[in-house]
Amino acid sequence: MGFNIAIDGPAGAGKSTIAKKVAKKLGYIYVDTGAMYRAMALFLLREGVDPENTEVVNEKCKEADITIRYEKEEQVVYLNGENVNAFLRTEQVGNMASVTSANSNVRKKLVELQQKLAANADVVMDGRDIGTCVLPDAEVKVYLTASSKVRAQRRYDELTAKGEVCDIAVIEKDIIERDHQDMTREISPLKQAEDAVLVDSSDMTIEEVVETIMKMTVTGEI
Ligand code: C5P
Repeated sequence: MGFNIAIDGPAGAGKSTIAKKVAKKLGYIYVDTGAMYRAMALFLLREGVDPENTEVVNEKCKEADITIRYEKEEQVVYLNGENVNAFLRTEQVGNMASVTSANSNVRKKLVELQQKLAANADVVMDGRDIGTCVLPDAEVKVYLTASSKVRAQRRYDELTAKGEVCDIAVIEKDIIERDHQDMTREISPLKQAEDAVLVDSSDMTIEEVVETIMKMTVTGEI
């Protein structure tokens, strides 16, 4: 079993930015579980599946073979043999992922993949249910959050930097809706694990958050 750091929290809290930096400092592997749910959502979108139709999602998801490889220190997600990284970080795929990730077969398949990755390596894994379900024995657990305004601004900056045209009010509405879906779903809802440390990054810099987690990891100090 590797040394496991679990970082959970709502959309746009900065989980991936922080997790990547912590992983780099420690020489650990960064596992982005959201990308796996996004790859599954992309598959279901391409197949024209109605995300609300549980039976069809249950069946169709079996046809998606999702695997992870590390190339030039980056996590690359393969969907039935195709590198789909370039298609994952759109609002459309994110919103679809939020709905289809509530499906039990989808979760079963991806949680298994995540647990396998963590069993064989030291990892920093981010998601929604890592501390509660995927890695309940993780050595370090963080629940990273920020206000919806701050999170919407960050997502807006990220998307506009990539040249996407977007409306910040729509992004905030989507974020609130996605949080609601993630927190109220029946299976593995987003919630702070009892033994997770709450970090609110609304008024913190990236470096401050990274330092906080490094301290927890290295000295066990909170
Ligand atoms: O973190 P990211 O925005 O990439 O995640 C996309 C969606 O995937 C989330 O809204 C959530 O519904 C789902 N997800 C999940 N469990 C995880 C990671 C992501 O349900 N561990």
